[in-house]
Amino acid sequence: NRQFLLDSRPQGEARADNFKLVTGDTPALKEGEVLVRHHYLSLDPYMRGRMDDAKSYAAPQPLGQVMQGGTVGEVVESRSPRFQAGDKVVGMGGWQEYAVVSAEQGGLRKVDTTHVPLSHYLGAVGMPGVTAWYGLTQIIQPKAGQTVVVSAASGAVGSAVGVLAKQRGCRAVGIAGGPDKCRYVEQELGFDACVDYRQYADAPSLARALKEACPGGIDGLFENVGGMVLDAVMLRMNDFGRIAVCGMIAGYEGKPIPLAYPQVILRSRLLVQGFIVSEHMELWPQGLQELGQLVGSGKFRPRESVAQGLESAPDAFLGMLKGRNFGKQVVKLV
Ligand code: NDP
Repeated sequence: NRQFLLDSRPQGEARADNFKLVTGDTPALKEGEVLVRHHYLSLDPYMRGRMDDAKSYAAPQPLGQVMQGGTVGEVVESRSPRFQAGDKVVGMGGWQEYAVVSAEQGGLRKVDTTHVPLSHYLGAVGMPGVTAWYGLTQIIQPKAGQTVVVSAASGAVGSAVGVLAKQRGCRAVGIAGGPDKCRYVEQELGFDACVDYRQYADAPSLARALKEACPGGIDGLFENVGGMVLDAVMLRMNDFGRIAVCGMIAGYEGKPIPLAYPQVILRSRLLVQGFIVSEHMELWPQGLQELGQLVGSGKFRPRESVAQGLESAPDAFLGMLKGRNFGKQVVKLV
């Protein structure tokens, strides 16, 4: 069983040598446990925060232990009546080829792959999808006809935000890096517009481009990035607009991302609310149901960046932190 451990904490930017590839044993199953062979690992921005030991909402990833993270795979052996060999499951198996998991406490869930491909349970029909659903429906709460903007729009969370906003009759506008991502957001995801932030040197010039894309101003912002992108959108917010603060990826490697126009929060009487999706587990079934239907019916075709083989995990992860992924970043093992 090959595994990646967190070997050291980053000094500044994370590097491939913070991780160590080892070959470990798979312990024999005890009563109530199952053995899962992982087909895909999920790589997510939150993992960068856990590599540090700074205070955060989640405990740091312990050094010398398998990198924690979401996984999908197949049960190959079971000593629990709840799972059988052959079941497809989603869990938190970490960066390794196999995981021994407690059927009761391991957070393992059976999934149906008849209409939804297995890997999408790590993305659109999984944690990132529910993140989009939660921020949009519980914080932004848009009405039909309102304009919702989302940053990192081609990514796992951002793509779902736009699709869910369109379902609610909103104008959905994305912000993404580069012409290919913007083309995908408009043409394949069905957003009304997408602005390539890389074309603009500062927040005021990006805000001018957003004025064209959002002629009626912006009622809801789903923020994934922070920094210049957030500043620009804030300049276009309508009175009583809502900002769901989901992520601040521009600052995850330690770069300061000061807020340029905090006075807009007062002037426009904005609601600004951060959230952590894992603190709202009671709403996951509702979100997953809508997302599963959208993906299963083909109305939402999420895109993935697939890295091949366990050994590719560190580089794929570091690339995602630099925006090199295009869609949900996963690692394919089988
Ligand atoms: P994505 O698939 O969106 O990948 C990250 C993307 O961020 C990159 O592809 C890149 O796209 C974009 N990006 C923009 N600015 C930067 C920058 N300065 N440095 C690096 N990347 C940048 O990831 P996810 O969909 O998984 O996550 C999106 C956000 O949601 C993250 O901030 C994440 O932390 C957050 N999140 C929050 C949760 C919560 O509970 N609050 C749960 C899950 C995710 P581009 O090329 O378009 O710039």
